[in-house]
Amino acid sequence: MVTARVPLIAGNWKMNLDHLQAIAFVQKLAWTLDEAKHDMAASSVAVFPPFTDLRSVQTLVDAEKFSIAYGAQDVSAHESGAFTGEISGAFLASLACSYVLIGHSERRQYHGESNELIGTKVSAALGHGLVPVLCVGETAEDLEEFGASAVPIAQLKASLAGISADAEIVVAYEPVWAIGSGKAATEEQAEQVCAALRATLSEMFGGEFADRTRILYGGSVKAINIASFMRQPNIDGALVGGASLDVEEFASIVRFYKHVI
Ligand code: PEP
Repeated sequence: MVTARVPLIAGNWKMNLDHLQAIAFVQKLAWTLDEAKHDMAASSVAVFPPFTDLRSVQTLVDAEKFSIAYGAQDVSAHESGAFTGEISGAFLASLACSYVLIGHSERRQYHGESNELIGTKVSAALGHGLVPVLCVGETAEDLEEFGASAVPIAQLKASLAGISADAEIVVAYEPVWAIGSGKAATEEQAEQVCAALRATLSEMFGGEFADRTRILYGGSVKAINIASFMRQPNIDGALVGGASLDVEEFASIVRFYKHVI
């Protein structure tokens, strides 16, 4: 059985744009897509602003009934209590977040996040009805030592061990060497790893799960290269960093189907 997966174009703002800039950005993005008669059934769009922007984005999206989803860039593994600086899944759910990024390579690298912690965060997100966008990917050293698929597959297995086969998740394959470098993976490289990740999901949770789970590619995606990724059968969208901060560029990525030949 082959399910039609609705592509997802997700913008990871990282630590950019305060809440006022977020309001202006989301408003302009919605207008740009509207003006271009964007078809949300052809590709859905989500933004991942900093925590402090989320309430403002919620209020705007709610008031204007925009079809733009939003999520956070991280979530605590804990429910509540003495965890200074952390944000629980319950708080994100109460702001009507749909998604949360988990295990981004910058969290792994700068905050020492292990696969075990990431797995706990995935469970915490699911427990609050949030869709985790689990980020996996190899460094340049991993690539040289183990090839492209081994590390992302190991990360996937270790982080999803605790979930059930009826869960909804999104996987983002982001080779660390491609993030922010301007040097994207080739579409063949990305497809090969995404196909291997889907096969792993199938082994772990069955064919139906693997078939309906969206796998995104991330790493130096731009309007000029999105089409080549979206032509691949196992790539269901993109996680976009730098290029998600420019409304016109991001809207053009969202509307990839206009330039997929
Ligand atoms: C990212 O940080 O998730 C990312 C893909 O960044 P960029 O698009 O800038 O490479």
